[in-house]
Amino acid sequence: MRQMVIAIDGPAGAGKSSVAKRVAQALGYRYLDTGALYRALAWKAMQRGLRPQDTRYIIEMTRETRVELQQSNGEQRVLVDGEDVTEAIRVPEVGNLASPISAIPEVREILLDWQREFGRQGGIVAEGRDTGTVVFPHAEVKIFLTASLDERARRRHKELLERGINISFEQVKLDMEARDQRDSTRHVAPLRPAPDAVLINTDHMSLDEVVEEVLRICRARFTNGAPPST
Ligand code: C5P
Repeated sequence: MRQMVIAIDGPAGAGKSSVAKRVAQALGYRYLDTGALYRALAWKAMQRGLRPQDTRYIIEMTRETRVELQQSNGEQRVLVDGEDVTEAIRVPEVGNLASPISAIPEVREILLDWQREFGRQGGIVAEGRDTGTVVFPHAEVKIFLTASLDERARRRHKELLERGINISFEQVKLDMEARDQRDSTRHVAPLRPAPDAVLINTDHMSLDEVVEEVLRICRARFTNGAPPST
């Protein structure tokens, strides 16, 4: 029986990754971090010294790049042409370059096929910016997570410091604001909630509370006629 697709979108730092991973684990579903795909391309573009305006080269590069997401022990590893870049793609510079790269329509088109293929069998929790609007418009559950800019920057800053990346709170906030602005105003697949998404503001919620709320919404869908998880 086909399993559900759960799409979780929202701006940077809203808690999508932590929530999506936990929800996937609870349901026994696969986890699809779509941002990792854009970051993987940005990482490779950086290795090649490409700049955001080198559109033609970036499109060519995207066509010939093999990105793999491997799940091992509940963790996702990201491979670019066979090289493990899981940690390397998390630095702020890669996130900042991923944003203009993700605004190139041809790049999105290539990754769209990739993502749909990954989700073809269902049984996934996908997170990103357009998983509920463009990639999986028929997803059974759509969630849009938000939080104030300050709260999101605070969370991302803490996460980066824990990873040993030394950066000021102000810089994280500035980067995040610029990225939000670019992601929301681009022509293709801008960041916005799907009309049928459930909005959750996570400002005053713990991770456990958000996960519980999302699982509650999923259970309601299961019992309202959608196929069960197993
Ligand atoms: O989610 P994450 O911060 O890893 O994403 C990095 C960048 O990739 C985002 O700022 C956004 O520009 C882009 N992205 C996107 N569509 C997605 C996921 C990420 O455009 N579905």
